[in-house]
Amino acid sequence: MATTDDSVNGMTEHCDECDLETLHEVSVQIRTESLKEENAQFSREPYRVAECQRCGNRTSQRMNNA
Ligand SMILES: [Zn+2]
Repeated sequence: MATTDDSVNGMTEHCDECDLETLHEVSVQIRTESLKEENAQFSREPYRVAECQRCGNRTSQRMNNA
C-alpha cells in the first residue's frame, strides 16, 4: 500500500477518556499558525492527531517539540 502524509492508520493506543488501550485512527495534519507571522519558521506545524474509535475522543500532539 502507498502511504502519503494524510494517510489514515489504525493503531492501538491508550485513551485517557476510556482509560483503556483502544483502536485509534491516526493522521497527520499541518496547521498554519497564521497568528505568529513574526515567527515564520514556526508558521506551519505538523500535528499528530489520534481519534479513539471507541469514544471518539481526539488528541493532537505537536510532532517537532524536541
Ligand atoms: Zn476512548
